Amino acid sequence: MGETGKGCGRKMGCERERRAGLVSFLCPRSWRPSVGHIDVRELKRRGIDGLIVDVDNTLVEWDRHEPTDALKSWFSAANDAGLRCCVVSNSRRRARIAGFAAALGVPFIAPAGKPLPWCFRSAMRVLGTDPRRTAVVGDQVFTDVLGGNALGLYTILVPPKCPREFVGTRLVRRLERLVLGYLRRRGYIEGA
Ligand SMILES: [Mg+2]
Repeated sequence: MGETGKGCGRKMGCERERRAGLVSFLCPRSWRPSVGHIDVRELKRRGIDGLIVDVDNTLVEWDRHEPTDALKSWFSAANDAGLRCCVVSNSRRRARIAGFAAALGVPFIAPAGKPLPWCFRSAMRVLGTDPRRTAVVGDQVFTDVLGGNALGLYTILVPPKCPREFVGTRLVRRLERLVLGYLRRRGYIEGA
């Protein structure tokens, strides 16, 4: 696992001076090559106690039903580090998300309705945390990052696990690429 924020040849995004406006809503606080590269102990040192984690294309491909052994190990490490986790997914296939969360031994919220704030607040109630002590991990700027930033959570963006996605998501990805390209050119985010 790499260090959260720096390392692996990738530096985090918006730790430098942040601008008001859309950038503050759309720029992730950190970018990592995968969930496995997030150092849970480093998150704890940052004061993070709770983790809201997306499922589809963040943890696994959207058509996969079971977490991998590597993911189970990562969640186990998070638990050992004292991080509480909650799976929050916009998927309408609630039974699939429920099974996924059960396999990881964590609570879940689905279908969630990200980026709307209520689902993040519900997750924080489940986790027993507040925005300053909560991080969001996800693969989408307009759901995971936008929703988390709007409430002041620590947002971590990871690249999607698989290029195969729903038609609606593929359209959103085009806009997302424009946003990430802008943020990268302006030096707000490196590597994404
Ligand atoms: Mg996702």
